[in-house]
Amino acid sequence: MSQTIVIDAGHGGSDSGALGNGLREKDLTLTIALGVANFLRQTGADIRLIRSTDTTLSLTQRTAFANSIGADYYLSIHINAGGGTGFESYLWSGPVDSTTTRVRDAIHQKTAAYFASFGLRDRGKKTADFHVLRESKMPACLLECGFIDNATDATRLKNSSFLEGLAKAIGQGVATGLGLTVAPGEPAQISKYFVDVVKGMEHAVPHIDSLFEKGIILGDGKGHFLPKNTVDRLTLAVVVDRAIEYILSQINK
Ligand SMILES: [Zn+2]
Repeated sequence: MSQTIVIDAGHGGSDSGALGNGLREKDLTLTIALGVANFLRQTGADIRLIRSTDTTLSLTQRTAFANSIGADYYLSIHINAGGGTGFESYLWSGPVDSTTTRVRDAIHQKTAAYFASFGLRDRGKKTADFHVLRESKMPACLLECGFIDNATDATRLKNSSFLEGLAKAIGQGVATGLGLTVAPGEPAQISKYFVDVVKGMEHAVPHIDSLFEKGIILGDGKGHFLPKNTVDRLTLAVVVDRAIEYILSQINK
C-alpha cells in the first residue's frame, strides 16, 4: 500500500511569513514544496500538498487536513529569519516515536549536506512545540531552510536552481527515511556527447551538439554539459572568443 505524504508549504495568502532581501517566505516555501512533491511522486507515494497556490490557511486547517486523510508523514517547509544563517530541522518537543526520529535524521542529513555544499552551516537537529508538529497525528518534521534576512542565504534562495536542488535533497531524505525508492528509468540521454542532456531538452540538442563539434562549448570534460548551470563572465568570454575564432577560420578557408 502506498504511503501518503503531506507537504506543507508554510504561510501563504495574507500571511507572507518572513520578509527580507526582496524575498517572501510564502513564495519560497511554495516553490520548494512543489519541487519536493514532484520528486517524491517518482516514488509512487501519494503526495498531498497543503497548498499548491498562494492561499491563506490556518495552522489548524493544515493539521486537520493531514489527520483527516490519515497521512503517513507530515513535512512542513519554512524559511528562517531573525539574524542567523543556515539550515535546521525540528521535531515536536513532546514524545515522538522511532519513525519520526529516523525520517528526520535522513532528511536532516541530506539537506544539511546540500547546504554545506554551498558553504552554509548546519544549525542542528532541534525540537520545538510548534502547532504542526504537536497537532499532526503522524510522524512530522519542520524544516527551516536558510535565513531570508541574511544576505548570503538570500543570494542562494533567489536562485531557482538552488531551490530545485534543495527540493531534491529534501525529497531524497524523505524517500530514504520512509524506505521509498525512485522508480528506475532515469531520463535518457538525447545528446551525442553529454549524458545530462536528456528528454525534455529536445529543442536545444542540435545546437548543443553542433557547438561541441565546432569546439565552442565543450562541457566539463567528463561528458557533462551542466544544462542548468548559469554562465559567468569568464565562461562567456571563452565561448564568445571561440565562436569568433571558428567563424574567422571558416572565412579564411
Ligand atoms: Zn515560517
